[in-house]
Amino acid sequence: MHSEMLFERARKVIPGGVNSPVRAFGSVGMTPRFIESAKGSHIRDADGRDYIDFVGSWGPMILGHAHPAVLEAVEKAAKDGLSFGAATEREVVMAELLCSVVPGLQMIRMVNSGTEAVMSAVRAARGFTGRDKLIKFAGCYHGHSDALLVRAGSGVMTQGIPDSAGVPAGCTADTLTASFNDLQSVEELFRANRDQIAAVIVEPVGANMGVVPPAEGFLAGLRRLCDENGALLIFDEVITGFRLSLGGAQEYYGIRADLCTFGKIIGGGMPVGAYGGRRDIMEKIAPLGPVYQAGTLSGNPVAMAAGLAQIRILKETPDFYKELNERSERFFGDLAAILKEGGIRAVLNHVGSLGCVFFTDREVTDYASAKDSDTERFKAYFRFMIDNGIYIAPSQFEAMFLSSAHSDEDLAVTLDAARRFVS
Ligand SMILES: *Cc1c(COP(=O)(O)O)cnc(C)c1O
Repeated sequence: MHSEMLFERARKVIPGGVNSPVRAFGSVGMTPRFIESAKGSHIRDADGRDYIDFVGSWGPMILGHAHPAVLEAVEKAAKDGLSFGAATEREVVMAELLCSVVPGLQMIRMVNSGTEAVMSAVRAARGFTGRDKLIKFAGCYHGHSDALLVRAGSGVMTQGIPDSAGVPAGCTADTLTASFNDLQSVEELFRANRDQIAAVIVEPVGANMGVVPPAEGFLAGLRRLCDENGALLIFDEVITGFRLSLGGAQEYYGIRADLCTFGKIIGGGMPVGAYGGRRDIMEKIAPLGPVYQAGTLSGNPVAMAAGLAQIRILKETPDFYKELNERSERFFGDLAAILKEGGIRAVLNHVGSLGCVFFTDREVTDYASAKDSDTERFKAYFRFMIDNGIYIAPSQFEAMFLSSAHSDEDLAVTLDAARRFVS
């Protein structure tokens, strides 16, 4: 058992044996699989076992793993040097490409992770408005920077940590928490903090508390409340960007944010994040303006090459999103039907190629209803699926990611496993 042996070694030198808590299998009572390689929709672990992968590196692999065009771009860029700490043409091309396809994106700054992107966008919003307070939603994850680790969903939810230790109260004093899909909770915070709210930040589709779609009118309501109160609307599109559509959730739902953040897909598997939006806000960023933000490896040539290659395919493949979303729709519909026929108390939430099975019998519309799910039942489901060669996230509170590399056969095999689980 190579994974077991590697985990034993890892635990001695890496906290919990993993470099990100969401990779631990603790909540499902197992040891994590160590992955050796991946291709298309499949990953292979250190013991040579093959799985159909629905994690996709938590989103980036929308074309499947090791896409030949992405690999080729990376090899080519690497040969020219790994990093210069100076401006390069690829960064210009990347910025132009992103601004040409994302609604309202006039300027963008590259960083190295989604965490950094959100942290910097919040700083820009505060610098621009001259206000300190921020509204976020319970169950939305925006990376692990201090100010945003408040009821943060995802890994913290799985670990049962309400808020992180080591975050001084002062760092989160200006972070106010509203309920997802509850405009009244936002209105109340605006009323109680008049002229003090810099921004509302939201995952347009909650994708770090399982998958929770925005209710009809929710995002439009946030837009209106921000406008009425002189606050900025930030869409954290680290998951939804280039996932729901080429223009992300802004295009998918037809709602314009003032700032948006990206990560995951835009790096094609390399560590990349970005934040951008209205020109008048982005012109506050150093060296143009007084909001400081920097990065030694930002816009790294190899990372840019990978991201560019992937985004170009997404842009240039006719009907890419239409096809992926339709296939996903059918798959999630079939999965929901199988669970229902099996008499399992489950709710299947999905938007485009993001989906999640909640083991509960009431609608999941926010953090509280997500938390109500039967995590013991999830554990049994997870164990059954992984034993049958289906790799899903080891947590009730994470999304399932479909890619264009998932074949009809992959999906049929997965549905068949679900059918055997319920019977
Ligand atoms: C993953 C994620 C982040 C953090 O990105 P990292 O690259 O892991 O730092 C931020 N926001 C959302 C919505 C995410 O899903």
